[in-house]
Parts: sequence; structure tokens; C-alpha cells
Amino acid sequence: MSNNKGFDFFRTSEDHEELRAAVRAVAEDKIAPHAAEADETASFPQAGYDALVASDFHAPHIGQEYGGVGADALATCIVIEEVARVCASSSLIPAVNKLGTMPLILAASDEIKAKYLPPVAAGESMFAYGLSEREAGSDTASMRCRARADGDGWVLNGQKSWITNAGVSDFYTVLAVTDPDGKRGRNVSAFVVEKADAGFTFGDPERKMGIKGSPTRELIFQGCRIPGDRMVGAPGEGLKIALATLDHTRVTIGAQAVGIAQGALDFALGYVKERSQFGKHISEFQGIQFMLADMAMKLEAARQMVYVAAAKSERGDADLSFFGAAAKCFASDVAMAVTTDAVQLLGGAGYVKDYPVERMMRDAKITQIYEGTNQIQRIVMARQLLKA
Ligand SMILES: Cc1cc2nc3c(=O)[nH]c(=O)nc-3n(C[C@H](O)[C@H](O)[C@H](O)COP(=O)(O)OP(=O)(O)OC[C@H]3O[C@@H](n4cnc5c(N)ncnc54)[C@H](O)[C@@H]3O)c2cc1C
Repeated sequence: MSNNKGFDFFRTSEDHEELRAAVRAVAEDKIAPHAAEADETASFPQAGYDALVASDFHAPHIGQEYGGVGADALATCIVIEEVARVCASSSLIPAVNKLGTMPLILAASDEIKAKYLPPVAAGESMFAYGLSEREAGSDTASMRCRARADGDGWVLNGQKSWITNAGVSDFYTVLAVTDPDGKRGRNVSAFVVEKADAGFTFGDPERKMGIKGSPTRELIFQGCRIPGDRMVGAPGEGLKIALATLDHTRVTIGAQAVGIAQGALDFALGYVKERSQFGKHISEFQGIQFMLADMAMKLEAARQMVYVAAAKSERGDADLSFFGAAAKCFASDVAMAVTTDAVQLLGGAGYVKDYPVERMMRDAKITQIYEGTNQIQRIVMARQLLKA
């Protein structure tokens, strides 16, 4: 009675564990060797992208009808987790391909899906997601970016801020106000914008604390005209689609956080068994052992929560909002704690760039901030709790 969709008597299926082994091999052989350089030079991890495309792990969630491999939500999380274990920046390739295309998968016409999903599945293009604005981060409904109907098309004016994989992506889901006098939250629509559209440019790359290999830039629209058939879903439904997307993709950020934390724990475990002080390996000190046990305990709790949330995402369960927010919030706090402890376990060596744990600690921080800060996740959880 095995169930390859999610759990086999409360454990991941053989298929999922085989997938993990396959991704880990690609990640260790082809992505890990370039992770420090992508961070140091703040350059897009092209080698990682090429390796992910060659193994079909760059956008695993896209269905077979669009040329994808049709990985379920748990399999997609495992891909992201294993890539993040060696390079958080590279893990944003599958993660943001899902984030950018999820509005289409949830709400777009067959024509839009047939046009834009195959190139992403084939690894020819990436897809980014433009919701946040400089003055509208947590308060997304206060966005100002505007799309005005003009003949048979739309004209976009405004900007989107901190957009992951901006510039390196060919396609963008962009949320814009289409009815400035309409009800707050119901006056926004979603559009596909192409990099090649006239009037669409990018801001300078942000100089960041972590995930430096993942480009983060503003999207700038100055009289950017797009055809009328680029709207995703119905007029006024944009914010609803954008937030429904986040219910699914917050689970993937939880997976990214679990992967970063696992990478740090694995490295620290190796180090404490080698490093000697006071005439013994530091792994023999009980103070160190208790730290390791706490790190592994929290990490495993986070992983289980992410996997349950992934199963809920796959099934489309009614309590996905709670579980997506809880998994992302919990796992990202665990990633921050575990990576900070990993730095501590390496002592001075943890604080310098000769070892990967300081990068992992910087990379972990963003998981508490994007796709909604962890304060906003608590608002999402409380809203679902109080609705019941
Ligand atoms: C590297 C990076 C990549 C990103 N990628 C993307 C992307 O691809 N697409 C995209 O659309 N966005 C992206 N973002 C934007 C990100 O989602 C926002 O930064 C985030 O949602 C927070 O918004 P803000 O920065 O405006 O913070 P603010 O909303 O100004 O929040 C500031 C502080 O106030 C707290 N706060 C705000 N409101 C409340 C409240 N009601 N109750 C309690 N506390 C509150 C917040 O938790 C935070 O601690 C990215 C950001 C970064 C840094």
C-alpha cells in the first residue's frame, strides 16, 4: 500500500528518497564547488543553473503536459532542500521558477500556460515574481504600480522592488493596480511581462548580506505596453492569486531553510570530530554534544513540518495557509539558530570565509524575511486560527 504522492506509512516514499540521492549527487559534484565564488563575486551561479537544467531539477514542479517532469510539491521541496544544502543562491532557481509560474498554474488561461510554461520547463527561460514595492512590502495591498487599459492592451507604470532573479529571467508575473478607485485588495490584477517588452528596465543589483549569487533588482515600468491577453486570471483577482501562490511557495522557502541548516550542521559535525583542544577532540565535550543534539532536533522538527505542509500543498488542503506560514516561519528561525550555532562550533574558523558556515549564516537570514516576514507569517496563522 505505498503512496508515491507523499507518505508511505509516515515516511517519504522510495521515489522521494531516490530523488534526494540524485539531487545530492548533482549538488555536491556540480553546484557546491562554485558556491563560495558565487557568493564572493555576487555573480549568478551559471554552473549551478546548467547542472540543474541538465538534470531537470531547475523547474521540477512544471507538469508533463508542458514539457516538465511534473514533480509533486514534496519532491520539489526535496530538490530545493538538497540544492540549498550546498548553495542557497542556486536553490532560488527552482524555488523562484515555481514562485513566478505558480500564479499561471493556479489561474491563467490555457493559452498563457501553453505559451509560457514550456520554455521554463525546457530550461530556456526563468520566471520571476514581482509583488513587493519599496513602500508596499508587508502591506502589499497598498501597492502603487499601475496598469491602465489602453485600446486592446495595458500600459504599466511604476516599480517593483527586491525582485529575485530580475534581469536573468525572461518572464515576470507582475501585480499592478487596474482600478485605482476600487476596493483595497480587489483593485489589483496580475500580468505576464516579458523582459523584451519596451518600457521595462531593471534597477542596479542590490548589494546584499547573503544569497549574493541570486540577483535582486527593481523592475521599472515606464509606459510599458503589453497586449491584452497577458492578464493572469480575472481583473481584480491579482492579489488573491498572488497570496494563494505564497501559500504554496512558502513551503519551498521552508525547504530552503532546512537545506541551509542541514549544510551547516553537516559541516560542523565534520569539524568537531577533527578539531582538538585541551588534548581531545572538541566533539568529546558534553557542552558541544548538547549543542549538536539541539541543532539536529530542531532541524528534524522543521523538516517534518515542511514535508507535512508540502503534502498539504499537493492536496490543496483547506488549512494550507496555516501550514505554509508555520513551516516557513519555524524552519527559517531554525535555520538562523542552527547556522549561528555552526559558526560558534567552529570558533574563529567559523567567522572567516575559509569555511562555508559564515556564508550559510548570512544566507539563512533572508528566509526569515522574504515571502512575508516571520511577523507576517504569524498574522497569517492567527487569521486562519481565528476564522475556524
Ligand atoms: C533578497 C530579497 C529577495 C526578495 N525577493 C522578492 C521577490 O522575488 N518578489 C517580491 O515580490 N518580493 C521580494 N522580496 C521582498 C520581500 O518579500 C519583502 O522585503 C518583505 O515582504 C518585507 O517587506 P519590507 O521589506 O517592505 O518590510 P516592511 O513591511 O517595511 O517591514 C519592516 C518590519 O516591520 C514588520 N511589520 C510590518 N508589518 C507588520 C505588522 N502588521 N505587524 C507586525 N510587524 C510588522 C516586519 O515584520 C519587519 O520586521 C525580496 C526581498 C529581499 C531582501
